[in-house]
Amino acid sequence: MPRYDYLVVGSGLSGATFAQQATAAGKKCLILEKRNHIAGNAYTKEIEGIHVHQYGAHIFHTNNKTVWDYVRRFAGFNHYINSPIANYKGEIYNLPFNMNTFNKMWGCVTPEDARAEIERQRKDCYTPNPENLEQAALNMVGRDIYEKLIRGYTEKQWGRPCAALPPSIIKRLPLRFTYDNNYFNAVYQGIPTDGYTAMVERMIEGAELKLNTDYLTEKESNRRLADRVIYTGPIDAYFDYCRGPLEYRHTRFDIQVLDSGNFQGNAVVNYTDRETPCIRIIEHKHFAFGTQAKTVISREYSDEWKPGMEPYYPLENEKNNALYREYEALARAEKDVVFRGRLGTYRYYDMDQVIAQALHTLR
Ligand code: FAD
Ligand code: UDP
Repeated sequence: MPRYDYLVVGSGLSGATFAQQATAAGKKCLILEKRNHIAGNAYTKEIEGIHVHQYGAHIFHTNNKTVWDYVRRFAGFNHYINSPIANYKGEIYNLPFNMNTFNKMWGCVTPEDARAEIERQRKDCYTPNPENLEQAALNMVGRDIYEKLIRGYTEKQWGRPCAALPPSIIKRLPLRFTYDNNYFNAVYQGIPTDGYTAMVERMIEGAELKLNTDYLTEKESNRRLADRVIYTGPIDAYFDYCRGPLEYRHTRFDIQVLDSGNFQGNAVVNYTDRETPCIRIIEHKHFAFGTQAKTVISREYSDEWKPGMEPYYPLENEKNNALYREYEALARAEKDVVFRGRLGTYRYYDMDQVIAQALHTLR
């Protein structure tokens, strides 16, 4: 007889939200997590009194009031607003693309000047119905910004020419004709004051947890532990890559503690030229306005994913989306197993989106 109502595979925000909802509804849950810690890629670890985002900067932002109210049941949030800086060969620009960027790039002072300059810049390269990221980016901001702030960064991050990437990736970035460096168009934004790990700890209270346990290594016997499974790992791994692997990007995080109070003056600095090997440097104390004597930074390098590596970013192009649909059909036929989260549904989802998805799972 199964001992649990639900077996939740993965303790990221997707699995944690589901486990919280199920436990609150009186269900018995077991969470299996293959890493040695909870919270998935949102995991934060305290080093030198600083909450370090071990798997890259995680800024909570959402327009979904239900999700915002939900997460604040488990954590207080500070008022951090993400305003990354782009460093192109020593030239500094504000992101996302806004009047501060246009002023630095071209000296434009009014929105009208900036619109006219972008119009001039894209006149020779405008593509109706853009089919790839390069065309979409040139349409959006013209040649100069594409060359200095988009091309190098994107090609390093995705390991492919911009012309071989889908337009959806660049559409994540706002374009504004105001002097506003807020990276997100979100009504609600902030960082949990005592870190994501503490937040997830509170979310999964009442559920049983086993760390260092890979569900797939003993899939059959694990499956028998519960009536239903919520699987938030990679969907292709679940089916033993039987239709071939989906493509992902892997990221390496090189974390250093420095004897400096302030290394770069901002939480996130993107290196947008092709030559600098890392894509960005994160200085973690600035997420919480920290004044510690030391600082912790992490350099992020992007690699092609291969089986055995951690998959971080799904690459949603036509080929992968078609392959995903094959896996999705297999998933639908899998009795009493539900696939959720960024990896289980192969979507470039932000944290609020996986939480919203998980909140709908029990209903
Ligand atoms: P994950 O966090 O990946 O959790 C899945 C968990 O399942 C992992 O802990 C994994 O170890 C476990 N698992 C997998 N397979 C198995 C198995 N077989 N057995 C047991 N356990 C298993 N989102 C934002 O909203 N804001 C940001 O600023 C932001 N920045 C990001 C920066 C980076 C570098 C990355 C990679 C992502 C970022 N995201 C951001 C996205 C965010 O990380 C995801 O939306 C969110 O973490 C997805 O949660 P999840 O639970 O679906 O997946
Ligand atoms: N991007 C860019 N230059 C930048 C920042 C982002 O060209 O300085 C592009 C790049 O293609 C990236 C996409 O915008 O993949 C989305 O950026 P986002 O910050 O949302 O990426 P994430 O935080 O998910 O890595």
